[in-house]
Amino acid sequence: MDHDELAHWSKRAADWARDYHASLRDRPVRPDLKPGDFRKLIEAPVPEAPEPMEAIFADFVRLVPDALTHWQHPRFFAYFPANAAPASMLAEQLANAMAAQAMLWQTAPAANEMEALVVDWLRDALGLPGEFTGTIHDSATTATFSAVLTMREKALGYEGLTAGLSGGPRLRLYASAQAHSSVDKAARLSGIGQDNLVKIPGRADDPLHSMDPNALDAAIRADLAAGLRPAGVILATGGTSIGACDDLAACIAVATAHGLPSHVDAAWAGSAMIAPEFRALWAGVEGADSVVFNPHKWLGAQFDASVQFLRDPRPQIATMGLRPDYLKTLGAEDEVVNYNEWTLPLGRRFRALKLWFLLRSEGLEGLRARLRNHVAWAREAAEAIAALDGFEIVTGPILSLFTFRYRDEAATAALLEAVNRSGRIYLTQTTHAGRFVIRVQVGQFDCTRDDVMTIPEVLAAEAARL
Ligand SMILES: *Cc1c(COP(=O)(O)O)cnc(C)c1O
Repeated sequence: MDHDELAHWSKRAADWARDYHASLRDRPVRPDLKPGDFRKLIEAPVPEAPEPMEAIFADFVRLVPDALTHWQHPRFFAYFPANAAPASMLAEQLANAMAAQAMLWQTAPAANEMEALVVDWLRDALGLPGEFTGTIHDSATTATFSAVLTMREKALGYEGLTAGLSGGPRLRLYASAQAHSSVDKAARLSGIGQDNLVKIPGRADDPLHSMDPNALDAAIRADLAAGLRPAGVILATGGTSIGACDDLAACIAVATAHGLPSHVDAAWAGSAMIAPEFRALWAGVEGADSVVFNPHKWLGAQFDASVQFLRDPRPQIATMGLRPDYLKTLGAEDEVVNYNEWTLPLGRRFRALKLWFLLRSEGLEGLRARLRNHVAWAREAAEAIAALDGFEIVTGPILSLFTFRYRDEAATAALLEAVNRSGRIYLTQTTHAGRFVIRVQVGQFDCTRDDVMTIPEVLAAEAARL
């Protein structure tokens, strides 16, 4: 294939994409497939001879979409959204076209300087203090891992990088029991170890399910008394399970009193902070050292783009950065920021472009209006579900996420299965306080109030059929 043919097929692909998106409401949100079903459809020996694009494209159209869960379906209420506003998709096509590798300023000046600009834009949009800078990672998992590696090295005086961890002090991390599994992963992979990630119990009767700041303080004191070395506190704004929000002001005050760095995981809920009325959920965030949020979730930037804000990037650069001779910028070393030194991989995609397109084409007002609708509709759906016979809201809406159960565990599980088999909506489960519950999040970019109010309708219909 050459670039003339690419132009032809890109137009075909764009037309196909428009039709695909227009057809989503008529498709089941999740395909009815068993593991291995799809592989059977495409099983073939590796091609020796070239095949015509017509045949490859036809197979794609015939086989692939029906074997996917449609994340852009307006009735996708599972997990969290992975929105892809059309303008951000267009930017991804353009970034693909140039295929630049943005590891250094000089390998992609536009990508580099646009990254700085959109991080500043988002910092201001979220109401974070102007002293924060930041960078774009692929995922919140990587951002949190980077923050935890930085905590480790700060606690070790940056000696872990060279001496390794063997024989060193036993480091400790603290997070709420509601922390996302990426925090566990960071503890494990950083060499700190799962056993040294202390899960702090929740505060009694707190509708936001914050960790108890007094329990955090007590845990840190106990560790110090036992000769262990606290390294940092990881906080949640909008936990994945039920949307738990730690009391950032109180918990960061505890961390700061012990001289510990803090990292806030707001992967999902961070997007909502473009609307000032939601910022009470992370009051005190300005005291954090690091904050991550995923514009690729609720905000509308096509996957993947995760922004990490840093009060002072130097500790993370000291941890992550290496500058061998072959990566030096001759003559301008002191004038440039090379973001590979802030993040895990050397190679970097041009992710800033889709944020620039998204923010300019929707404007913050456009994005706020969507988010506000999602929150309002989630509350309405929760009220309608609460009014159904046998249904109980287990955790009320935090932003646009709530959980419910139906009669008992067996009935709840059977209902979830039936609802998802119907294909009309897609929901997923979690466990809360030992109970199996169904999660609902409202956040798909194109969903309407009617789409959201389909949830109680489908629940009632499927429950009646059980
Ligand atoms: C989705 C999510 C993550 C993980 O995000 P990735 O970008 O997929 O790594 C981490 N924390 C929270 C609270 C999340 O919702």
